Amino acid sequence: MANHLYDALFGRHAGSEADFLIAPDGARTTYRAFLADAARYAHALRGAGLAPGDRVALQLEKSAHMLAVIAGAIRAGIVFLPLNTAYTPAEVAYFVGNSGARLLLADSARADALAPVAGDCGAALMTLDPDGSGSFANLAAGQAEDFPAEPCGPDTLAALLYTSGTTGRSKGAMMSHANLLSNAEVLVDAWRFTSADVLLHALPIFHTHGLFVATNVALLAGCPMIFLPKFDTETVIRLLPKATTMMGVPTFYTRLLDDPRLNRDLVSGMRLFVSGSAPLLAETHRKWEDRTGHRILERYGMTETNMNTSNPYDGDRRAGTVGLPLPGIELKVCDAAGHPVREGEIGVIEVRGPNVFKGYWQMPEKTREELRGNGFFITGDLGQIDADGYVSIVGRGKDLIITGGFNVYPKEIEMALDARPGVLESAVIGVPHPDFGEAVVAVVVPEKGAKLDPDALRQEIAAELAAFKRPKHIAIVTDLPRNTMGKVQKNLLRDSYAPLFRG
Ligand code: AMP
Repeated sequence: MANHLYDALFGRHAGSEADFLIAPDGARTTYRAFLADAARYAHALRGAGLAPGDRVALQLEKSAHMLAVIAGAIRAGIVFLPLNTAYTPAEVAYFVGNSGARLLLADSARADALAPVAGDCGAALMTLDPDGSGSFANLAAGQAEDFPAEPCGPDTLAALLYTSGTTGRSKGAMMSHANLLSNAEVLVDAWRFTSADVLLHALPIFHTHGLFVATNVALLAGCPMIFLPKFDTETVIRLLPKATTMMGVPTFYTRLLDDPRLNRDLVSGMRLFVSGSAPLLAETHRKWEDRTGHRILERYGMTETNMNTSNPYDGDRRAGTVGLPLPGIELKVCDAAGHPVREGEIGVIEVRGPNVFKGYWQMPEKTREELRGNGFFITGDLGQIDADGYVSIVGRGKDLIITGGFNVYPKEIEMALDARPGVLESAVIGVPHPDFGEAVVAVVVPEKGAKLDPDALRQEIAAELAAFKRPKHIAIVTDLPRNTMGKVQKNLLRDSYAPLFRG
């Protein structure tokens, strides 16, 4: 049996001397060199004692080596879980423990802090730095440049992608080989990718957008990626003339618009800009078109499903909408019972298709709550469909905050705040922010007689929460607005604090 995902994405490039990755300084890595690294890492994973189906957790800075480990894991049939580099050791402990990972790979700078985590979870800890050094690299050095790909069918588990959970518990979305490959195939076609493209890649690769959408599309089309360690306006402005396409979160576009060097000349070689992971303001869409002549193509997806909808490549790209369901993917807007609402009405978006995940890792109840028996996944996003079939996302049923493209669930921050001495209760909301899309704001009520200092509170919770989750503003108030049922009226709070970051 073949290896469903590896063969299609990587195996097809065996022996190719074409460029796969281009570093910011112009250094090039061919497919052949990349696949040799992937094979060495596959041997190293096996050498570290991992068998097919075992899990490896990666908390690594973005690099070609991290990508080669992922390719090696797929080749060896080992399930990988990429973790946000902003996660604290306490957060990493949960992911390693929950997934039962036998190996945790981290940058050497994090090794000391993560050693107790690995120890407690019974996982081995090895290091791999972006320059390709570290104990895991040493294990890989000298290994063979070939590795017989582990047979894996379409339903074999490829990756666990952890989502945030409303109760503070993350869930590991199980992505199969076919989930990932089917979506890449659809997107290459929908967005007209070919080997003549050059993709400017400035997204993180611990998240579905940079890891699966961008990278898998480039691999399948056989186009090189200009692979940046992170988004940085200066570098992106310098390299845009060498690219033909870019995928980004809305923050990329607002930051580039802030730079006067963004103009038609700079992007004259580009054919496509894609945006997703958070709502792109219609105003940003308009400004981008005025300045560059390009209409950004907005699409909609999520960890559990990869991409569900996209504005058309050739047809009308409508600002403020996420376009039409992609081929082979069914999308309906439903009431709580799963019955479609009338055209134009708002309801919960449900999707079904080969892209939809297999369920949550070892959480059968959560899986049953969100994945219907008929295969439809209840996304939790609120949306509507217009007469032409265009989908708009109008809100998030789960009060999710999306800041700089990262998800923050208020409950987790509220729990951290409420546990501090002197805090009676708190409500965490997202308010509009010109750079991050939304900013996390906490509204905190002190216990009777207690004095709270917002700066001290921020510092106290910092150890527990990744930087992107920490409130950008903490307001101390005497009480929270509540409705007659006793529920905190977050909509009122959002209105009151909306002007906070307006320029
Ligand atoms: P994640 O699982 O991190 O990819 O986050 C998925 C969530 O991001 C979705 O459930 C939506 O709430 C939101 N999202 C993704 N793309 C868009 C978009 N184009 N417009 C509005 N919200 C989006």
